[in-house]
Parts: sequence; structure tokens; C-alpha cells
Amino acid sequence: MTSNPSVTIHLFRHDLRLADNPALCHAADGSVVLPVYILSPELYDPSHLGGENPVQHDGYGAASAVWLHHALESLNETLNGCLHLYKGEVLKTLTHLCASTGAEQITLTTSHLPHERKADEQLQQQLAQEGISLVQIDGNLLWSQDDVLKSDGTPYKVFTPFYRRGCLSAPPPREPLDIPQLSLHDRRDDALSVKDLGLLPSHSWDQTLSAQWDISERGAHKMLEKFVESADGEGLDDYAEGRNFPAKTNSSRLSAYLKFGQISAHTAWHYPAQRHEDIDKNLDIFRSELGWREFSYSLINQFPALKSTPLQSKFSAFEWEENQTSLSAWQQGMTGYPIVDAGMRELYQTGFMHNRLRMIVGSFLVKNLLLDWRHGEAWFWDCLFDADAANNRAGWQWIAGCGADAAPYFRVFNPITQGQKFDPEGKYTRRFVPELKNLPLKYLFCPFDAPKDILQQAGITLGRDYPKPLVDVKTSRLRALERFSALSA
Ligand code: FAD
Repeated sequence: MTSNPSVTIHLFRHDLRLADNPALCHAADGSVVLPVYILSPELYDPSHLGGENPVQHDGYGAASAVWLHHALESLNETLNGCLHLYKGEVLKTLTHLCASTGAEQITLTTSHLPHERKADEQLQQQLAQEGISLVQIDGNLLWSQDDVLKSDGTPYKVFTPFYRRGCLSAPPPREPLDIPQLSLHDRRDDALSVKDLGLLPSHSWDQTLSAQWDISERGAHKMLEKFVESADGEGLDDYAEGRNFPAKTNSSRLSAYLKFGQISAHTAWHYPAQRHEDIDKNLDIFRSELGWREFSYSLINQFPALKSTPLQSKFSAFEWEENQTSLSAWQQGMTGYPIVDAGMRELYQTGFMHNRLRMIVGSFLVKNLLLDWRHGEAWFWDCLFDADAANNRAGWQWIAGCGADAAPYFRVFNPITQGQKFDPEGKYTRRFVPELKNLPLKYLFCPFDAPKDILQQAGITLGRDYPKPLVDVKTSRLRALERFSALSA
């Protein structure tokens, strides 16, 4: 007589994939797997979408909730409809599932976010009291944070030594794992549908955004393949140079897939080298960008209050301006600086913003408008598909100059010269600010400098068809330098 195989629950969270998922492999080893996803109130509280106090909110933003919806739908499809979705308290849901299926083991990809790690520790203890073991296995970061420490055993605060001395001299990232053979638990009647989770907004603004992406594990792999296989200056072939230019297709666009774990960082790290024998400068730089992701996670573990508290404490006293009109103009891409507006509109129309633009619009908000970086963080959090607790907060602290290894305060991106340099043909700007499409390149990034007849020929009246500049770029720069340098004194 053969005994029934045991049931192991795999709790999906930031690892919505089958390939290279060590915790899922562990679950599949000799057990029937019950794949589960729980939307808990701590993770997602739709009430914040009314804008009550988004700065304080720690759950999913509106755009990433949409991405999550589609990612869960496609994962469920891959699992032949056997992804068990629930809404509610994690402990209660899991103990109920264990009691009714006889499962004594739950596997989970380790979280690298401090508040989740704490919650998971507590969960582990509570489950242990019920005789259930919670097995946490690393799967989302390339290096264990314990392996990347300075010689005195403390974590790095500066990127270059963190990556070059810390990561690159630690044991290299392991090779990706194959998809395990899964023996899936039958679908239970108490599981919800993806729609029941209520992740989509009531107004259908999301459809045009999500239609531009293939939000699936397959989509993630196709994105990586396209990036790596491209030749003739596309994709990885000219990443080192081309990734700075928003009209080019040189960056991988993997960020949202990495955030939701639809592809692992290990796959992104190793796959290019499998396809190209010589590791060249392009791959070296691409890998170092993955290193920035590791660095952000190191920072958030060193400074769990990264979202709200400046890492350099002197910035707590900084007097930010309060100006709702300027903030709204920035959010809507109506600042009167075309490259800034193009970036903000790209965000709103696609759920993504090119890295160069994140720096330009970020600098404009905190330096030229002197508005608090936390407003920028909150807006990005709500609008980005790739909104990532570690990367977004570290990115904003970097741009505001208050981070651990931040841009110096005197580095103010000039929105006119940045446009001229990084969008030299104006393609990107014309795409997202179409009202300026007939303006000659000479004035595209500074329409306020164009002679009247040129504006007329382009069909533009400033203040009517396109806004007049919100601030003067030169005087606002000087004002920022004065205020920031007072802080440094
Ligand atoms: P690629 O250039 O192809 O890079 C590959 C991967 O490396 C990315 O997908 C990402 O996972 C990682 N990466 C690249 N640059 C960085 C970086 N500077 N910091 C950390 N990881 C990086 N990235 C997010 O994933 N989520 C965010 O919420 C986020 N917010 C940001 C906010 C600001 C103000 C700034 C300046 C940057 C932010 N970034 C964020 C980092 C970066 O802009 C994006 O990761 C990148 O633009 C994504 O595009 P890509 O996938 O084509 O990147």
C-alpha cells in the first residue's frame, strides 16, 4: 500500500515565476504543491487610492496593483488554474489551508524588505507553534547580504566599493534553476479568482497601459532575449552608451518583471553570458546596474526608514517649498520644460520612465522647484509599474542628495542641455509632447526662447497650447544652490 504524498504549500509573493525559483523547487521535491498567493491588508489597501496619505502608504501603488493583477492571471494560467488566491490575514489563511490539506510545510522566497522580514520571522514562530514549518529560501537577490560586508563586518554605504569590492569578490551568483516537475494540488473551492482580489481600478485607465506590455513570465523572458539577441547597436549590443538615450532601445526594460519576480536576477545575470562568449563592456555595465538593485536592498536593510527619513540627518531640517500648483504641474507633465514634461507623460502613459528621465524630472522637482523628494517618491510609487520599495526610495534619496551615496547638492540637471544631449533628434520629446512636434529642434527644449514667428509657424501660443515655464531654470538653480549649500555649511 502506498501512502499519499505530503502536501507543501508554496506561498508566492515577489517570485511570480516557475523558472529559477529555489523555494518552489524545494516545495516540489517529493510533495504535491499547493501554490498560494495571499493579498493581505498590509500589502494592498485600495482605500489609499483616494489619496488620503499616499506618502505613508507601504502597499502596492495603483499601477503596480494593475501589473500584479495581470502577473497573477498569467501565473494562474501557467499553473493550469491551480494558483490559489486568497485575501486576508496571512497567518489565518495559512493555518486554515494547512489544517484542511494536511500540509506541514510552507515554502517562501525570502523577502529582503525589513518590514516583511520581521513579519516573516513572526509568522515562522506562530506557524511553528501549530507544527508547521515555514522554509524561507533566497531567490531574488544575487548575493546574500551577509557575504557583502566590509572587512570590519559592517555593510557598505557607497556603491562602487559595495559592488566592485563586496559583490564581485564574493562567491558568484549561482546558475539559474530549471522549472521543477510539479504535481499540483487540485483546485479548492474556497480560492478566489484574480478579479475577486479587486486590484484593477474602477475607471479603465489601466487598459492602454497594460496593453503595451506582455505581463507574464514568458513576456519577461522574451524581453530579456530581445535585449540580449539584438545586434547593430540595439539592446545590449550598445548598452553602455545607448542606455542614456530615451529614444533608443538599449535598456532592458526588465525592471517591473524583476520587481514582481517574473524573472530572476540570476537569469538576467547569466543569460547574456551564455549567448555572448566574451564578456564585454556592455555586459559589465548591465551587470553593474543589477548591482545597483542589490545596493538599494542593502540600503533599505541598513536604513529601514528609507521611505520617509533622509539618510543624511542634516536634511531633516531642510526647508522645502509647499506649492501644490507646481507639484500638480510636475505630475501632469505641464512644467513648460519639454524634456521634463515628456518624462512625466511617459510615466503616465506607459507606467514606465527611462532612467535618464527619472534623474532629470527628479532633479527638476527637488532642485528647480525645491519640492520635497517624498512627493516625487509617492508619485512614482503610484504610477510606476516597477515601483520597488528599495529602488524607488534609494533613487529619490540619491537624486535629492540626502542619500548615503548621493548626487552632490551642486549637481542640478539642466533640463535644456539634458534634452539637447540625450534626445538629440527630439524624437522622444516629440512623441510625448506632440503639441511641440512642429517646433524646430533648436527650440524644442526651450520653446520660451523661440521667436514669435517660429512659434506661430509651429502652431504654438505659449500659455495656451503649451505651458510657459514654471520657473526660470537659471534663477531656480541659484536658489537651490544657496539653500542646499547653507545646509552643507
Ligand atoms: P536597465 O538599464 O536595463 O537595468 C537592468 C536592471 O537593473 C533594472 O531593470 C533594475 O532592476 C536594475 N537597475 C538599473 N538601474 C538601477 C538603479 N539606478 N537603481 C536600482 N536598480 C537599478 N528602479 C526600479 O526598479 N523601481 C523603482 O521604483 C525605481 N525608481 C527610481 C526612482 C528614481 C528617482 C531613480 C533615479 C531611479 C529609479 N529606479 C527604479 C532605477 C532605474 O531608473 C530603473 O531600474 C531603470 O530605469 C529600469 O529600466 P530598465 O529595466 O530598462 O533598466
